[in-house]
Amino acid sequence: MTGASSSSASSQHGLTDRLARWAKGLSGKAEEESAEVEARPRPGSSSSREINRRRQLYEDIGDFLFAHDLDLTPINFSVALDYLTGANIGVEKAIRAVMMERGKITNGWIETIAAEQRADEVTPDSLATMLDKVEENLTQFTGLMHESRNSAKDYGAALQEQAKDLVEGGDSEPVLARLVGLTRSMVEKTRLVETQLRENQKQTKALKSSLENARRAAEHDHLTGLPNRRAFENVLREEVALAQAQGEQLSVAFCDIDHFKHVNDTHGHDTGDRVLKFVAGLLAKASNDRCHVARHGGEEFVMLFRGKGAGEACEVVDGVREDLANRSLVNRATGERMDRVSFSAGVANVLAYEDARSALKAADRALYLAKEHGRNRVYIAAETD
Ligand code: GH3
Ligand code: MG
Ligand code: MG
Repeated sequence: MTGASSSSASSQHGLTDRLARWAKGLSGKAEEESAEVEARPRPGSSSSREINRRRQLYEDIGDFLFAHDLDLTPINFSVALDYLTGANIGVEKAIRAVMMERGKITNGWIETIAAEQRADEVTPDSLATMLDKVEENLTQFTGLMHESRNSAKDYGAALQEQAKDLVEGGDSEPVLARLVGLTRSMVEKTRLVETQLRENQKQTKALKSSLENARRAAEHDHLTGLPNRRAFENVLREEVALAQAQGEQLSVAFCDIDHFKHVNDTHGHDTGDRVLKFVAGLLAKASNDRCHVARHGGEEFVMLFRGKGAGEACEVVDGVREDLANRSLVNRATGERMDRVSFSAGVANVLAYEDARSALKAADRALYLAKEHGRNRVYIAAETD
C-alpha cells in the first residue's frame, strides 16, 4: 500500500533524481569540455554548440535564482530548471502569472507550489488503492454471507425432508443417522464461514484505520496540525454554498509571517518551525464552527469567516496580529530573545466577487499591499479588484 509518507518520499526521489541527472549533465559537460579541448572542436560545431547551450542554461539558472533572491535549495534549482527549459508547463505558467502580478518569485511561493505538487501526488493514488481493497473485501463479505444463507437454507430443506420420513413412519434409525450427519456438516460449514468472516472483519478494520490515517494525512498539515490547503478548499466550497443559501456574509483572510526567511536564517530552521507552530496556535484560537483556519503553505495561513463581512473579519485578524506583535518570543534552543515576530494579512468579502477564486486573489493582493506598506498590518481588499 502506498502510504502518504512513502509517496512523498518517492516524489523527493523524483526531484533528487532529476537534479542528479541534471548535475550529471553539467559534469558530463565539464568532462566533454576538457575532452573537447583536446579534440579542439571548431567553434560552431554541434558539440561546441551543445556545450554553449548547457553553459547558457547554467548561467540562466544562476541569474534567475539571483534575480529573485532565492536560496540555493534543490527545490529552487528544480523549479528554475523546469521554468527555463519549459520541462513543466504547470510550473512555467504559474511562474509567469506570479511575475506578471508581483514581478518577483519568493522562496515561500516555491515551497507552496512544491508542497501542492507533493500533496497532489500523494493522496489519490494511495486512497484509490485502499478503496479498491475495501471494495474487494466487501465483495468477498457479501459472497460469504450469501453462501452462508444458502447453506442454512439447504440444511433446513434437507432436515424437513428427513423429518417427513420420520413422521411417515418406517425405520427411524437411518433417518436419524442422516440427520446427525447433516447437522454435523452444517456446524462445520458454519464454523468455516465464521472463521472467514472474522478474518475478513479484521482486514476491513485495518483498512478502515489506514483509510482514516490517509485521509487525515491528506487533509492535515503535519507540522502545525492545522487543516491544509486541500482541506481548506473543500471547506471553502461548502461554506460558500452555506453562506449563499442562508444569505450570510463570508470573508477570507490570508496571513503571511513577515520576514520569516530572516527568522530561519538567524535562529535556524527548527526554531522557525516552532515559530510557525506558535503562530498557527494563536490563529487557531479564533477558530470555531464558523471560523476555519488552515495552513495554506509555507509561512502562509488562511482564515474563513462565515457570518462576518471583511470589516469584522479584519478586526478579528488584527486582534491576533496585535497579540503576536506584542509578544516577546524566546529562542528555546539558545535562550535568546527574538526580534518581534509579526504577520501581514489581506481580507476580502468572498461573495462580492464573481467566484471564490477571484476573492482569494483579491485577498492575496491586499496582503501584498500590506507587505508593501510596511508589514505587520491587515488590509481589506477593494471590491473593484
Ligand atoms: P515576507 O515578509 O515578504 O513574507 O518575507 P519572507 O521572508 O517571510 O518570505 P519568503 O517567501 O522570501 O520566505 C519564506 C520563508 O519561509 C522561506 C522558507 O524557507 C520558509 N518556510 C516555509 N515553510 C517553512 C517551514 O515549514 N518551516 C520553516 N522553518 N521555514 C519554512
Ligand atoms: Mg509567503
Ligand atoms: Mg512571509
